[in-house]
Amino acid sequence: MIIVKEETCREIVGRDEAFEAVQNVFAAMAAGDAYNFPVIREAIGHADALYGFKSGFDRAGLVLGLKSGGYWPGNEAKGLTNHQSTVFLFDADTGQPKAMVGGNYLTAVRTAAASSISIKHLSRPESKVLGMIGAGFQSAFQMRAALEQREFEKVIGWNLHPEMLSRLDETAREAGLPFEAVDLDRLGAEADVIISITSSFDPIIMSAQVSAGTHLACMGTDTAGKQEVDANLVASATVFTDEVAQSVSIGEAQHAFSQGLISEQNIVPIGAVINGDHKGRTSADEITLFDGTGVGLQDLAVASAAADLALKQGKASVIDL
Ligand code: NAD
Repeated sequence: MIIVKEETCREIVGRDEAFEAVQNVFAAMAAGDAYNFPVIREAIGHADALYGFKSGFDRAGLVLGLKSGGYWPGNEAKGLTNHQSTVFLFDADTGQPKAMVGGNYLTAVRTAAASSISIKHLSRPESKVLGMIGAGFQSAFQMRAALEQREFEKVIGWNLHPEMLSRLDETAREAGLPFEAVDLDRLGAEADVIISITSSFDPIIMSAQVSAGTHLACMGTDTAGKQEVDANLVASATVFTDEVAQSVSIGEAQHAFSQGLISEQNIVPIGAVINGDHKGRTSADEITLFDGTGVGLQDLAVASAAADLALKQGKASVIDL
């Protein structure tokens, strides 16, 4: 079995590798060649932890496995990350264990890859201003990946906790771009592309605040009850997602769906755009919205890339079981 440590994943899986792995698996999902199994997530009654599994099979790439992990709120006091995950891969022909790969860093790059894929396929090519809502751990990964998709000239941002905005400022500066903290009216009016990546349970940005032609990547809502944008904004946008079933149950579209403002038929798998089966954006005025709910197959795709690269570069430990 191949073992790839967290720090090795950081060394060998960059944004390009994550983008390609996630784009391929979104395409395979839309073509019916890859599917996610039902998610399990439970409060285990110990250490206040939430623990679970995300799993699936990509028949096109022959990637089978699961991501196991969750959230341990007491970890930070122990000098550890609260979110903990590990990916296990199995040989699709025999069921034998194939690889164990650290999943913490990979979760951030695969989530950033998803929104950047949506920006590549759905935002207006002339997009110049990137708007960030959220300034937590994921936000820097999101910004770096997004900036590679268009010739952005400026980043603007808003966060409920303004003391965290320095992360956006530093990340934009690293990329050589100016950053400005703005209110939500300005963010909606000026941004060509908006990424939301927060833990919010209430809408942050409203339909009336967003300009025609904007592309939104809503990445924070991955649980029932969470919400980052107004349900009317979802209803008025052309909505794309990683997986429709998750979009209407745990994703940003859950509220518009439960209020009867949209149906599953209104939501397009982004893989259909990647495969050329859906034309994506059809006009410069259209508002497009990517509901990035986060699927297990994304984790398996980047972990499989990590295992292959680590083996090739002599950076994996290999053990007999
Ligand atoms: P974090 O704890 O580092 O940051 C949380 C962010 O949310 C901060 O910007 C904080 O100011 C903001 N926030 C907290 N409470 C809020 C509230 N009530 N209203 C508005 N904003 C609030 O978290 P992170 O690791 O950056 O993750 C951010 C979100 O992304 C989480 O909700 C996480 O579950 C989600 N996530 C989604 C995926 C996916 O695939 N879609 C993957 C990883 C993380």
